[in-house]
Amino acid sequence: MNDAGARGKCAACKYQRKRCQENCPLAPFFPSNKFEDFKNVNRLYKVSTIIEMLNSVADNEKKAKMVETLILEAKIRSENPVYGSIAIQNKLKLQIEETMKEIDLVKKTTNYFKELRKRAFCPKKNEETSTSGTQSFQGHKSDSTLEKATTITVNLANQDVEKDR
Ligand SMILES: [Zn+2]
Repeated sequence: MNDAGARGKCAACKYQRKRCQENCPLAPFFPSNKFEDFKNVNRLYKVSTIIEMLNSVADNEKKAKMVETLILEAKIRSENPVYGSIAIQNKLKLQIEETMKEIDLVKKTTNYFKELRKRAFCPKKNEETSTSGTQSFQGHKSDSTLEKATTITVNLANQDVEKDR
């Protein structure tokens, strides 16, 4: 199926309206069904640059990976002409940051409740842990519901300790 006549024009040659030679360097990577993909890539890079990039890689498997990346990059660029893939990168970075903050909050909450449980078993240490427990939650003023919930829990816990005495 290496014969250009049998496989038909590749997307690159079809786009350039020229004959697809048997040894067309773009044919293996841009078959006729990848016309849109080639159009997008061609908008970002000239044909000569694409061929140059392909020639800079020896391994055929790596060449295919490279073209896959170019197609993806060009597709994203066509959808977001100003920022391209940077827009997606920034969005994901923000998501990671938000998730890290959530994890941090969950960790602090877990530690706080662990501390509460500990205090329930050792009422003598109550005073010290109570202060440090409150401080660790001051960094999360944004979540007032959680703060209220923990304050109520602290008060209830303190009452319980008082009752036990
Ligand atoms: Zn071709």
